[in-house]
Amino acid sequence: MKDTIPLFSGYPRLAGNLSRAALGTFPTPVEKLTRFGPEIGLEELYIKRDDQSGEEYGGNKVRKLEFLLGHALASGRKSVLTFGFAGSNHALATALYSRQLGLRCVSLLLPQPNALYVRKNLLLSYGAGAELHFCRNMPDLLMKAFSILFLKRLGEGCTPLVIPPGGSSSRGITGFVNAAFELREQIRAGKIPEPSRVYVAMGTMGTAAGLVLGFAAAGLRSRVIPVRVVDEKYADSKKLLHLVQKTNTFLVRHDPSFPRIPEAGKDVVISQGYFGRKYALFTGEGMVALSRLREQERIILEGTYTAKALAALVDDVQAEPAKNEVVLFWNTYNSRDASGKTAVEDYRRLPRGFHRYFEEEVQPLDRLYSS
Ligand SMILES: *Cc1c(COP(=O)(O)O)cnc(C)c1O
Repeated sequence: MKDTIPLFSGYPRLAGNLSRAALGTFPTPVEKLTRFGPEIGLEELYIKRDDQSGEEYGGNKVRKLEFLLGHALASGRKSVLTFGFAGSNHALATALYSRQLGLRCVSLLLPQPNALYVRKNLLLSYGAGAELHFCRNMPDLLMKAFSILFLKRLGEGCTPLVIPPGGSSSRGITGFVNAAFELREQIRAGKIPEPSRVYVAMGTMGTAAGLVLGFAAAGLRSRVIPVRVVDEKYADSKKLLHLVQKTNTFLVRHDPSFPRIPEAGKDVVISQGYFGRKYALFTGEGMVALSRLREQERIILEGTYTAKALAALVDDVQAEPAKNEVVLFWNTYNSRDASGKTAVEDYRRLPRGFHRYFEEEVQPLDRLYSS
């Protein structure tokens, strides 16, 4: 059966101690970018197609949700409570996969700059039956969170499982430790030479943290280059190191044979220059990279995360030619078309706070580059 994952084959006790719901389709392919690579002077540029991580909805959140929602079911929860910005891909993935498993999903969402994907994600989450709450700011969000936890506990007899933003708890991050072992299998099978660098967008840091720990545990020398796309107060090297080490402790606790690697995460260099002015405000260089990849490889990125990560890769390679290096771009965005399901939904059925995203214009770079 295809239900065992590389991390569990190596550490069977983890399989016994961690619940996992098989939501995704793994391994995700690795492909060579035969046009885009040479264009930027790189013969050996590859992409990890985590955009195809699930049938219903892909992207990087599926790997985390397998462990998070698996735990929700195993611990008898009836609902989950999660957080994000209005257009959160994480909130949408959680809504879709919760429904698949018969769990109710409540999402508390904060304001963000407007974009077409915000509209689409809100309508899809709503269509998936998620309970959406618009939160003006953090204090508002916290107040709503406590009242929901209290009310759901009364109504359902147990508290909803709280899933942190981006699913980036140790449990969720375990999905990306596994992803590193998955890549090692693909390297051994000759699908890709061992990359010297792996570029990945970094928001709540779970994806990067899991890969850093996973590569170290799997004995790969690949260097993770996280490209920061959120404000520095949410993501820096200290916080990343903490997350790597916390996840390491979590895994050792669930399987004492998992290696303890105190140096993992200590020498990660975060790519800093691609954030732009604000979270979810697109950048010119990001959108140029996005449109080049779309034209040459027919792969669709978005402006908040992956476009900025690709812009960093392109600049690095051109500033310091890496002719003989193998570089991997880890695509964290979804490429499954879930839009059929939104068509019937009218935005006026959403809570009032979200209407602005449908009534106000989107940011100019989104219009300019939407095809
Ligand atoms: C959530 C997300 C990320 C960031 O991943 P983290 O684990 O939160 O750092 C990157 N790309 C896309 C498309 C995402 O939705």
